[in-house]
Amino acid sequence: MTLVGCKALDAETIAAATTSDDEEQESSESEGEDEICEEHQVLENECGICHPQKAEALKTGQELKVRFESTKAVSKAGLQTAKPRVADTQPSVRVVSEVSYNENKLARITPVVAGIVREVYVDVGQSVEAGDALIQIHSAEIASAKTALISLDVDAALQSQECRRERRLAKKKISSTRDLQVAEAACRTAAMAVNMARQKLLNLGFTDAEIEKILQQQDASALLTIRAPLSGTIVYRNAVVGEVAQTGEDLFKVADLSTMWLSLSIPPDKADQVQVGMHVIASFGDSGPTKASGVITWVATSFGERSRMLVARATVDNADRKLRAGMFGYAKILTGPAHESAVTLPADAVQQFENKPYVFVKLEEDLYSLRRVQVYDRSEKRQVSITGVRPTEDVIVVGAFTAMSEFLKSRLGAGCVDE
Ligand SMILES: [Zn+2]
Repeated sequence: MTLVGCKALDAETIAAATTSDDEEQESSESEGEDEICEEHQVLENECGICHPQKAEALKTGQELKVRFESTKAVSKAGLQTAKPRVADTQPSVRVVSEVSYNENKLARITPVVAGIVREVYVDVGQSVEAGDALIQIHSAEIASAKTALISLDVDAALQSQECRRERRLAKKKISSTRDLQVAEAACRTAAMAVNMARQKLLNLGFTDAEIEKILQQQDASALLTIRAPLSGTIVYRNAVVGEVAQTGEDLFKVADLSTMWLSLSIPPDKADQVQVGMHVIASFGDSGPTKASGVITWVATSFGERSRMLVARATVDNADRKLRAGMFGYAKILTGPAHESAVTLPADAVQQFENKPYVFVKLEEDLYSLRRVQVYDRSEKRQVSITGVRPTEDVIVVGAFTAMSEFLKSRLGAGCVDE
């Protein structure tokens, strides 16, 4: 087998092995581990130049040693190192997001009857409480509904009086039972008609108290006052005094702005990472970015026909009212728990080899570790969070591509030689 003595070790194991007092045990475990590559002055089985093919099998945190031809060659390549930043990061998905009103707290105010606008009490931007008058409409239908109720109510009162009279007479056996039955039926019919007329006014938006007032005052005016169904801010107004308000037409929109919605467009390859309940952090605006955070409350079950994106929705706090509908920006969906040993590096520091990520850690002027790492988060622009490197280590952040190219050259020269 080619793998005799080819076991690559992580930095700690190597340190332990080379300084261990218990060398008998170490050498009995891995035969040939102590052999030195004379040419590159590193342990034979971890010489990346002589055994580049071993790089593929490295696990996260494991490494090969790569000695460049000379320190001159290194300085010529312009390699620069830096210590990675300790990452305060969680794995996440970066998506496009747009702010919209929370439609669970948005009311469209539309008249149920057509009429002429007589008064407008509020304007865009104004705060209203639930029940506040927004607009008054003059409508013939309102007048006829009120008139119908008033006259039916008068009729029912008469029938009720008649009913009571028949009961008295029946008690004294003056009139027949049949007369009483007829009177009672008429009474019930009249009461039913009143209820229907009352319901019609309720449907038109009148409250019970308003209906009582109409009856008491015999008010058959054609005026209807439309009130705010919820507390919030007027975000839309399409009502002008004197104009005709049509049914089904929005006169106002009232929105509770204490929370907003974020529409998140998730690309298909990220779709299965996103779930309801995940936290979202979004930022908007160029100057002094506006931040928003909240939780995903809904994920679509199908992709957008045109966009080919999966839409998810997050409800975000807007107590300071800085978010505005239509704002556009990026959002980070936190898809997993924070990794305590993750560090952050410039994205260029991480190089791909056989589709796996590696970095170069500086050991000496011309000696580097080719370290296998694991990419943890790529959501930040030009930054990447990885595991497999300690914050105290010097990693090539400029020229990593050149370093990888040098390493790949050695791979062309050396085959996998059996030991
Ligand atoms: Zn070598």
